Amino acid sequence: MTTTHWLFGDQLGPAFLTPDGGGPSRDARVVMIESRAVFRRRRFHRAKAHLVLSAMRHRAAELGDRVTYVRAETYREGLRQAVGEEPVTVHHPTSRAALAFVRSLEHVTVLPPRGFLVATEDFAAWARGRRELRMEAFYRDVRRDHDLLMEGGGPAGGTWNLDHGNREPPPRGAATLGADAPYRPREDAVDEEVRRDLDRWEREGAVSFVGRDGPRLFPADRREARAALRRFVRHRLAGFGAHEDAILADDGTMSHSLLSSSLNLGLLGPAECVEAAQAAYRAGEAPLNSVEGFVRQIAGWREYVWQLYWYFGEDYRTSNALRHTAALPDWWSELDADAVSARCLATVLRQVRDTGWTHHVPRLMVLGSHALQRGWDPAAVTDWFHRCFVDGYDWVMLPNVVGMSQYADGGRMTTKPYTSGGAYLSRMSDLCGPCPYRPDRRVGEEACPFTAGYWNFLHRHRGALGRNARMSRAVRGLDRLGDLPALLEQERRRGDGPP
Ligand code: FAD
Repeated sequence: MTTTHWLFGDQLGPAFLTPDGGGPSRDARVVMIESRAVFRRRRFHRAKAHLVLSAMRHRAAELGDRVTYVRAETYREGLRQAVGEEPVTVHHPTSRAALAFVRSLEHVTVLPPRGFLVATEDFAAWARGRRELRMEAFYRDVRRDHDLLMEGGGPAGGTWNLDHGNREPPPRGAATLGADAPYRPREDAVDEEVRRDLDRWEREGAVSFVGRDGPRLFPADRREARAALRRFVRHRLAGFGAHEDAILADDGTMSHSLLSSSLNLGLLGPAECVEAAQAAYRAGEAPLNSVEGFVRQIAGWREYVWQLYWYFGEDYRTSNALRHTAALPDWWSELDADAVSARCLATVLRQVRDTGWTHHVPRLMVLGSHALQRGWDPAAVTDWFHRCFVDGYDWVMLPNVVGMSQYADGGRMTTKPYTSGGAYLSRMSDLCGPCPYRPDRRVGEEACPFTAGYWNFLHRHRGALGRNARMSRAVRGLDRLGDLPALLEQERRRGDGPP
């Protein structure tokens, strides 16, 4: 009897349908389930709902007669409809909830995970006995084990990490980085059908979304994802490194790869991405700082985040070391960029509203930093990022938001909170120029919400942060602020309104 193999909506590439390494047999029938409950439970960005549904339906069209594609209220119902109680295999899902669900079904056999370079058991062995789990140490081992950017037993160019060369501010006076445009797909009949369905669901009041669903910007099938990777490596990778941390108001994508949604849908594998970048370096087509920077994002950060999701356990989700409990204000939840005057926040929120994506530094140093400074509940912030970003999934959101961005894990992932005053944003972006607030003002009409917010945050957590070796100097700086009482009163009055 041929078995049936179930593909989740983020298992859409060829790696999830190959017998290699314990996968399903080549003649396995396939089942895919579109669960309406997933969209009912949470208010997703509409562009994200569009992308996921479009990608699932594109995959189903590719698989043709081999797939049973079910539209059902829940996964349980869909599976019953498709196969009854017959045996089914599925690759290890990417969320704890989905894993618990498939494990609870007697007729479902869970196969190893796909889409990552390092096995969870190998990470557990690496982590055992270490006092600290730092990305850099993990990343070097991944480089060695996978022979990535290695030369004569050491790192190519003699240095593991070229990050110091990748923190340049944006080029002075330039509105854009001047990189070639990123790959953009062309919509087809599948997208039209998805858009009609989403309109109908909204009309019927069955679901509601945030954000705009303009033309689809991210790949929905393997062919598009491969084209996006090719275009990035050929035309954009060389410029990836130097300004990786910079932000330009009129150049939202700069030299970033925009590959996260394709990787997280399973349309691309991490190995092919880093190998393509490595080949460009070997061929002299891209400099080492750019290639190493990109390889570190995928073979370092992405792998590390995936591993921490499983390693830290279920309780990690509710970590709240700083005891932040404030609810998200409506303007934020609704992505109401037009209500915001602070140019950095308005620019980034607008990009999220219109595309469901913004690059790493706006996520961390604008959106995440603002939420942290305001003391918003880290679980609500995590949920917001998950719903509003085209590449957001439970596994990638928890470590990135709870750990890296909100410091809610008390430093298990990072050595200090990522937040700053306006001076950092002013140095690393062109956002401050026409802003009604001034980065060097902390009190008064022109007080920058990030500068005032930073000191307010340090003051609230003076005790805990004063004991952190990397923060204690900044905390001592509070003692030199003669206007601290006025600043605290100003921030109390400012509350959670849009700055
Ligand atoms: P590039 O800058 O081109 O980097 C290349 C690739 O590296 C990315 O495509 C991504 O796959 C990987 N990568 C880099 N950093 C990380 C990281 N910290 N975690 C995981 N992968 C990483 N990434 C997501 O994929 N999904 C998310 O939901 C997500 N949420 C984030 C939330 C916050 C608060 C922060 C600070 C970061 C988040 N990231 C997330 C990480 C990172 O910001 C995005 O992966 C990246 O901005 C996606 O754009 P890109 O593909 O152009 O990335």
